[in-house]
Amino acid sequence: MDMGIDMRGEERDLLKERIELALQGSKTSVLDWDFSSNAFYISPSWKEMLGYRDEELKNSTRTWKKRVHKDDLLSVLVLLRKSEREKKSNFEITHRLKHRDGHWVWVLGRAKILYDKNGKKVRMIGTHTNITEEKELQLKYFYQSQMIEQIHDSVTTTDLKGKIVSWNKGSEKTFGYTAEEAVGQSIAMLYREEDRASLASYNAILIENGIHNVDIELVTKSKKLIPISFSLTLLRDENGNPIGVVGINKDNTARKKAEEALLEQKELLHYQAHHDALTELPNRILFTQRMEKCIERSNRSKIGFALFFIDLDKFKDINDSLGHEIGDKVLKIIASRLNAIIRKEDTLARLSGDEFTIIMGDFKEEKDISNLAEKILMILAEPIHIDRELLYVSGSIGISIYPEHAVDAEYLLKYADTAMYNAKGEGRNTYKFYASWMTELAWEHMSMKTSLRQAIDNEEFFIHYQPQIDTFSNTMVGLEALIRWQHPTKGLLSPSSFIALAEETGLIVEIDRWMMKSAMKQISHWYAMGLNPGILALNLSIKQLEGNAFFIEELKDNLETYSFKSEWLELEITERQMMKKTEDVIAKLREINDLGIGISIDDFGTGYSSLSILKRLPINRLKIDRSFIDDILEDKDDVAIVKAIMALGKSLKLDLIAEGVETAEQRDFLIDKGCTHMQGHYFSHPVFAEEIEKKWLGVKH
Ligand code: C2E
Ligand code: MG
Ligand code: MG
Repeated sequence: MDMGIDMRGEERDLLKERIELALQGSKTSVLDWDFSSNAFYISPSWKEMLGYRDEELKNSTRTWKKRVHKDDLLSVLVLLRKSEREKKSNFEITHRLKHRDGHWVWVLGRAKILYDKNGKKVRMIGTHTNITEEKELQLKYFYQSQMIEQIHDSVTTTDLKGKIVSWNKGSEKTFGYTAEEAVGQSIAMLYREEDRASLASYNAILIENGIHNVDIELVTKSKKLIPISFSLTLLRDENGNPIGVVGINKDNTARKKAEEALLEQKELLHYQAHHDALTELPNRILFTQRMEKCIERSNRSKIGFALFFIDLDKFKDINDSLGHEIGDKVLKIIASRLNAIIRKEDTLARLSGDEFTIIMGDFKEEKDISNLAEKILMILAEPIHIDRELLYVSGSIGISIYPEHAVDAEYLLKYADTAMYNAKGEGRNTYKFYASWMTELAWEHMSMKTSLRQAIDNEEFFIHYQPQIDTFSNTMVGLEALIRWQHPTKGLLSPSSFIALAEETGLIVEIDRWMMKSAMKQISHWYAMGLNPGILALNLSIKQLEGNAFFIEELKDNLETYSFKSEWLELEITERQMMKKTEDVIAKLREINDLGIGISIDDFGTGYSSLSILKRLPINRLKIDRSFIDDILEDKDDVAIVKAIMALGKSLKLDLIAEGVETAEQRDFLIDKGCTHMQGHYFSHPVFAEEIEKKWLGVKH
């Protein structure tokens, strides 16, 4: 080898050994290619780098070529040719060589190319440095930075002064600045004026804790505030000294929005679960919760509270006759009227249908409570305008007081309800404070209802008949059938103690159905025997016409079954029930009347009917109420009323009958005034059919 230096043999060997060792220490090996002789020298360190001993590999170009990665071989050869063409003397390229055990070793090749005076390359000598570790590290960083670049979240690095050093795509997306715009700027540009002071503290916290998590609103390029949670960590150099800060910033806008939507939905559901959809008032659930709270508060403060139970009177009528839509409107109006008169701290709730409750917090005296009750009645009574209709409603109110009447919510409500029922019983449109006797009454009521239900099946009802007399001929011209109840424990009960209850529960339909069949059967039996009992007068609850769609059908069936002539039958309807009736009911009455069945108005004079209404009704007879007959001899007013009723009957061409005639004097007086038909104890008490047969029909037993 001629390196242009003159040396002796040992000196040369020594130098070679030194160089070889130095090269080994720096992971570098030597290659020397003599193009004229095609001799190729490979230093032992090169072979060692690839896992071979010196003598295992031949010093030839093939040894190198065989081990170059095929993707790299071409680029090495191309560069070599290019360098030769351009007569370049320095050559540098990185490529891979295959290690004995199969993995790739990265080498940095550097060489000098020598040319002769004709420009032909004669020799190439250089080194291969093993850069596998560096290369792998470099690749790792390359991949990592690519990953960071592509992450959707914003990843930024700054130096310790806050100057932005790197800015990935996620940062661009989140904050709107491109990398060119951001790098070199201060990270403070993302902070609101008032938050910038906090920036200064970050480094100290990071050095202390290694990490710092912050939830903050940052400013975008378009000056929008966005919620960000970021996590900062220190970036250190290879000696562990901090050189910058890495921030991973999460845009919470979407999450915040989803959270808010969820919260809103939760709140809505909660609201819906606790409020009535129609009036938006608290419902039963919320009302109960409030009441429990009131009880707790009251126990602490020792100040009681009042519970109002408000039920609209005859609200069902509005719903039935005008429809639910109007009914709903009425409820809404009532709700807002009530809302307007209670105090903020009081609770107004709608429990169901037409039932409202008010919890009235601390009151000074009972007068405060009755004042509110009166106010409620007043605002309920104000007319309601809906779609050109003018409606009038009223309400009945029951009031219970904590802790006077009950110490738990359930009973307090129950008692207010009981008191409300009592107010209804007192003729409605009024208020009542709870009293313990009401519960007893309510119990009684309850047990009556139960036994009433069983009475028909148990055959506990029977009939008394009371004769109706024509005083002119002194003969019986008819009979009124009156129901009696042989109660299993209470004994004989008169209708006044159970008819109202039967109407309230709807059981009256069943009872009157039984009554009609039984009485018709009896009367037709008498006719069949050749006797003449006259007309059968049956008391009819108006409920039959409202609640029993088949009433007329059933009536016709009965006429047929019992071979009952329609003129033998008269239906009595009380004036009170008759007056409030709708066209529909009146049409049904007309239909019945057209069958030839008589209709009379019972208890006439007590129901304030007007002449104009009377004229439109399909009626045949007025039955003068017994209260007028009672003291007809003493009371001038009653005389006047009876006279007026008679005049009315005459002008409307209606028959008259007086009921409750108890004395001969009363009889004579009525005859004197022109009323010939009568009924009453003077002639006969209501009695069993056998008694009628014996006394009035001349049947011998
Ligand atoms: P009402 O139809 O006015 O019947 C007359 C009531 O006066 C009967 O009472 C009768 O016993 C009573 N009474 C008759 N004459 C006299 C008298 O001279 N002096 C006195 N003080 N009272 C007399 P009762 O039987 O207690 O019936 C009461 C009411 O119950 C009846 O009044 C009627 O409205 C109703 N009612 C009776 N039976 C039935 C029924 O089967 N169905 C329906 N829906 N109501 C009935
Ligand atoms: Mg009657
Ligand atoms: Mg009567």
